[in-house]
Amino acid sequence: MPVQKCPHCYRNVLPTKERKCPSCRQLIDNSPMDARAGKDLLWLSRNTRLAPICVQCGVPTEEKIKLQEFSTTRMKAFFSCLFRFRPQPILAVIALFRPELAVGEGYRMLRKVPCCSRCRKSNPVTIHSVDHHSFRIGILVQEELLDQLK
Ligand SMILES: [Zn+2]
Ligand SMILES: [Zn+2]
Repeated sequence: MPVQKCPHCYRNVLPTKERKCPSCRQLIDNSPMDARAGKDLLWLSRNTRLAPICVQCGVPTEEKIKLQEFSTTRMKAFFSCLFRFRPQPILAVIALFRPELAVGEGYRMLRKVPCCSRCRKSNPVTIHSVDHHSFRIGILVQEELLDQLK
């Protein structure tokens, strides 16, 4: 059975016997009905640098939009600092106010992506999927823009 791109989560997967995606558990032959056709998933990790073109429409732009996602809660960050191998009570207090300082990248994923002012209003970038394991945020981008952005 060949590896296939799942039409729902855009990961390259080996479908199960029931033709389901092992990652998102949806039927692999069921293509989504919305306007996602022709789009592909672009993963943004901390070191991803994108070309200065709008991720939505491809026009050159210096403007950026912020996307952020939280991988845990303030309380979890607090307790993880308290119950480490070497507890860090001061860090735990900091975690309640600025968790990203206490637990770093694992708490807040902040990505800036180029987005022109027109798309910002009419067609804003949204987060499609989050990979908490490798701290990546996935957005949907027109396939033909992928090569230009990277
Ligand atoms: Zn899937
Ligand atoms: Zn645009």
